[in-house]
Amino acid sequence: MSFLSEKHLLTIVKKSGIGILVLDKNFSIVLTNQWFLKSSYLSNIEIENKLIFDVFPELIGTRTLKSIEQCLEFSQYSILTHTLNPFPFPLFENEQKKEKNERIFQYLHIIPISIEEEENSFCMIQISDVSQQVTREKLLREQMVVAKEREKEAKKASQAKTDFLASMSHEIRTPLNAILGMADTLTETNLSEEQIEYLTVLRNSGKALYNIINDILDLSRIESGKLEIEHIEFSIRDLLKETISLFLMKANAKGIRISYSVTESISETIKGDSTRIQQILINLLGNAMKFTESGQITVNASLSDNQKSLILQVEDTGIGIPKEKLNSIFESFTQVDSSTTRKYGGTGLGLTITKKLILMMNGEVSVQSELGKGSTFTIQIPYEGLISRESTIHQHWLDLELPDPENFPKCKILLAEDSEENVFIIKTFLRKYPIDLVIAKNGKDALQKFKSEKFDIVLMDMQMPEMDGLEATKEIRLYEQIQKVDPLFVIPIIAISANVQKEDISNSFLAGITSYLSKPVRKIEILKLIYFYLAL
Ligand code: ADP
Repeated sequence: MSFLSEKHLLTIVKKSGIGILVLDKNFSIVLTNQWFLKSSYLSNIEIENKLIFDVFPELIGTRTLKSIEQCLEFSQYSILTHTLNPFPFPLFENEQKKEKNERIFQYLHIIPISIEEEENSFCMIQISDVSQQVTREKLLREQMVVAKEREKEAKKASQAKTDFLASMSHEIRTPLNAILGMADTLTETNLSEEQIEYLTVLRNSGKALYNIINDILDLSRIESGKLEIEHIEFSIRDLLKETISLFLMKANAKGIRISYSVTESISETIKGDSTRIQQILINLLGNAMKFTESGQITVNASLSDNQKSLILQVEDTGIGIPKEKLNSIFESFTQVDSSTTRKYGGTGLGLTITKKLILMMNGEVSVQSELGKGSTFTIQIPYEGLISRESTIHQHWLDLELPDPENFPKCKILLAEDSEENVFIIKTFLRKYPIDLVIAKNGKDALQKFKSEKFDIVLMDMQMPEMDGLEATKEIRLYEQIQKVDPLFVIPIIAISANVQKEDISNSFLAGITSYLSKPVRKIEILKLIYFYLAL
């Protein structure tokens, strides 16, 4: 350092790439540099040995000047960023900006300088140009606002899509119910073999369409976060038995053996979402059935070694899946090859929904497969076993044996339903039974009829004009209260609705319904449920 003369040091300060101002105790500017002169458009004579508030009168009363005062009086060091310093020095990048008074964004260091063994002390102001950073920050902030705006719009659009899908599928399901219901009824009439064949195609296509609509609705519900996972007690043994029974006829027809096994150590009742587990099994079994021409399909339920996971395995001896496709089959609309679609049908949504449901249950799914030999899908979900309680075993109404129409109890039923097609379907379902069916066109009409006649059961459609099923149910329960009807003898109200979301179902129960049937109502279901309440 010793070889640097005063002249050297002065030149270094003068040429420095940041702005420098040095003030003495009296606020007089004793030193400045080229950067500062150039940016302030002032000459050395206008600055040097002048008082800072004379050169820059606009600084009086500002934070900058206050910090300079504190630096000189109390040797206080300060930093003023451009956000903390809304009154910067009048420094400009060029003439045009000077004319428009567009100042350089400044970052100030105000540094007390005391000299060894001297009374004199100074204040050095270092000014950095941060305009570029500020512009970048501003741009970034603007981009963030735009991105947030876009995200909001995307969410809105996705919500609109979900709502649209929900209402569309509801609209499609309603006439489809009529088609399926009528097809069911037609099978009970005298038909030629040719007609039976046509009718089978009609029914199968209707059911396939129904499944596709349900898949799309499910996927949109999962993606919009509207689907909740339930946590209820159920028997995995009963669930497997019931699910397998859905495939027995098809397996017989194809000549495939289908069976299941449940490890002893699994509790009689476990906790989880039985509806969704069944949906997963139906998807996997449906695929196994579709892609297996001979051999067998087995479902095994077991526990992991640490007993913390329930393992469900669906194994088939079907066509198998090529190795390179094993991962992609869980993606939406993916099928192993496009000819599969033509040969086997399907939307490619089943496994996507299956995987999403399993992830929502905090579980995982994997697949092992060998071309030409078969595939095994393995699901692991958290296991919560409960000690078996004998008393929980009730007879399920679906297990009831339905008597012949002539032995069916005579009864009077109020059907609240606005759609003429649905009224027609239910009428045809019940036509052979000694049931006096009274029709109400909406909730209001139903309430009026309920008050003036005596019924054994009410069948209540939930979506009706004027007064919906929810409101009508509440009014009926209120009327019964006023009439002081013993709560044990209130009239059973069976809700019939296409809204199978948990929230709608629980709202209906809160309103006072006794039981719930989801559309499309099957003949056997509605008759068994009516019989169940009549036999009580
Ligand atoms: P899809 O409605 O087409 O069956 P999925 O998502 O359920 O849709 O299945 C996607 C694809 O994965 C199927 O099209 C099929 O190519 C393949 N796949 C699924 N399960 C099996 C199986 N058990 N055996 C052979 N291939 C299967």
